[in-house]
Amino acid sequence: MNPSNLSSVADLVIHPKWIVPVVPQGQVLTEHSVVVSDGRITRIEPTAEALRIQAAEHLHLPSQVLLPGLINAHGHGAMTLLRGIADDAPLLSWLQDHIWPLEAAFVSEAFVRDGTDLALLDLVMGGTTTFSDMYFFPDVTAQRADLAGLRAQLVFPVIDVATAWASDSEACLEKGLALRDEYRDHTLIQVGIGAHSTYSVPESTLQKIATLVHELDAPLQIHLHETQAEINMALEAHGERPISVLNRLGLLGPRTQCVHMTALSDDDIELLSSTNSHVIHCPRSNMKLASGISPVDRLLKAGVNVALGTDGAASNNRLNMLAELQMTALLAKLESLEATALPATRALELATMGGARALGLEKTIGSIEPGKAADLIALDLSQPHTQPLNNIISQIVYATSGSELTHSWVAGQPLVRDGQPVTLTPADISARVARWPEKFKAHQASIDQTGSDLS
Ligand SMILES: [Zn+2]
Repeated sequence: MNPSNLSSVADLVIHPKWIVPVVPQGQVLTEHSVVVSDGRITRIEPTAEALRIQAAEHLHLPSQVLLPGLINAHGHGAMTLLRGIADDAPLLSWLQDHIWPLEAAFVSEAFVRDGTDLALLDLVMGGTTTFSDMYFFPDVTAQRADLAGLRAQLVFPVIDVATAWASDSEACLEKGLALRDEYRDHTLIQVGIGAHSTYSVPESTLQKIATLVHELDAPLQIHLHETQAEINMALEAHGERPISVLNRLGLLGPRTQCVHMTALSDDDIELLSSTNSHVIHCPRSNMKLASGISPVDRLLKAGVNVALGTDGAASNNRLNMLAELQMTALLAKLESLEATALPATRALELATMGGARALGLEKTIGSIEPGKAADLIALDLSQPHTQPLNNIISQIVYATSGSELTHSWVAGQPLVRDGQPVTLTPADISARVARWPEKFKAHQASIDQTGSDLS
């Protein structure tokens, strides 16, 4: 026992059955506790010693595993309101015939407020503590994330589609940069640039973004190589693959987060690797839209950092990072036809440290280490589908569903306690969300000339 513990003081000491710190990879600690003060992890100690610490709270979690909070590196939160509204369509038809017309008609501050609140509740209850969001009215998203207490990267959307938020890509940039200034000193929210894609943002605007990324050292997120059709379209229009366009404009680099990245050539992977660009893998969205498969195993072997994202609820339709984690591990094996591809320990790293690196937050979050923020989740592994406990990390990756979540914290502040959300009110959110389907139906009925599937 360390005698100094007798006089030490902490805000919270957590005594779980197991700790999976992620760093070092594959480690599972038992008989250890995590000490939290001022929002940070100060120590990981043998439980016998940690029990002697003077703390505002000693929390015993006898059947839980404590993990770093999961990082959802790509999504469009407010699109939860469009969940299930345009299923079973390929990407371009899904966007052009369904999603963009509805967004043109309905996107507003109220739409983003209600949709984002539903997304935040969904994210939190699935174990996400940090999320990235690309959607209109990012100022509203920032306010809702701030109220809910999540950590966030908000990449304001830049796209040449007129919405109630901005008339074109230039207006998007102007409004988004003002928001970035407003949140410059926020401890949990960082604002970056969210170029929608090379096919929906003019090259002149991409050039401006390249200058801004370098001048401001701002994160840039972009949908890239989502489908083979996107690549073919770029080749026909400019004779260049989309990733080559970004490279020519100086838009690849350690602050660049490339979302999807399917149908990759060896040269594409070499470009990602040599520029230290990040890949955000969204397996469930890619599968649902039949977009393609990102070769995660090859990317990792080439030294490319890979993070995970759910994408929006209209193309997934879940925002559950445990589901994404499981799909990532399974799909990597199917894609490579190698059962040894992407072992469970490595997959878990993508959902935590991989996301932290992609968002430039690897010194703050992504693992349970002294000095890092106390962004933590606890999963109860006493349920039938998580027993027996032959292998803790295997159970987390292959057998959980999200129903195991009992606690979560961001910077030491509780978001979920005993399975109940602390900062969000489900009944209020459900009541507000329930009003939207009727509006969508009424709108569709008023313009329906082609036999839509909105019923
Ligand atoms: Zn997306």
